[in-house]
Amino acid sequence: MMGNIAVAIDGPAGSGKSTVAKIIAKDLNLIYIDTGAMYRSVALYCIRKGADTEKEEEVIKYLPEINLDIVLEKGIQKIFIDGEDITEKIRTQEVGKGASDVGAIEKVREKMVQLQRKLSEGASVIMDGRDIGTNVLPDAQVKIYLNAGVEERAKRRCGELEDIGAEYDFESVKKQIEERDYNDMHRKFNPLMKADDAVEIDTTSLTIDEVCSKIKEIIKEKTDLR
Ligand code: C5P
Repeated sequence: MMGNIAVAIDGPAGSGKSTVAKIIAKDLNLIYIDTGAMYRSVALYCIRKGADTEKEEEVIKYLPEINLDIVLEKGIQKIFIDGEDITEKIRTQEVGKGASDVGAIEKVREKMVQLQRKLSEGASVIMDGRDIGTNVLPDAQVKIYLNAGVEERAKRRCGELEDIGAEYDFESVKKQIEERDYNDMHRKFNPLMKADDAVEIDTTSLTIDEVCSKIKEIIKEKTDLR
């Protein structure tokens, strides 16, 4: 019997992280932690206050008062600010861009990483983000780096926007994804990067089932989870 296990899933926007992490969490009885949702929540709060998310001092002014709650409801992560369920409201392009802005700020990252580590304490988790394998959970037994071509990732993002009834334009979604990846890979603090000991999977031409099977194989090899 092994103790708690941690599975870290990193990769650029639209690589399939959250989709597969949710399925694997359910199948293997792990707690799914979506770290992007936390940066998105900080961004939403700042946007609502009228702050410019590109301006560090404006974001930092609001950071201490942001009251985030992460709750698991039937295994699904819900996120609240001051008691308001914002789980769906953070899924817009504007908030995604804001998340990438606030995610470049060291003080924001410190607060989020602390929260993420606390959530993973004493539990078996699968956590997705950009810096999980490299920074948040460096001792995770399983580290996966998901990747996919930008066209495919833009298509997937458009599908998600369609699902929630949001308006979008394919070319602008694609351009935003490229900009967001560039920002995420080139920021100073905890940039998006494959950990040395992560297994990279290109999901461009794989189905969701195929990606899940591959990851479960890797989990099986590295832990006693079945
Ligand atoms: O994964 P998602 O698209 O929800 O993440 C939104 C943004 O939050 C990312 O583009 C990234 O800038 C930031 N983020 C981060 N570190 C994480 C997760 C997300 O910087 N661990």
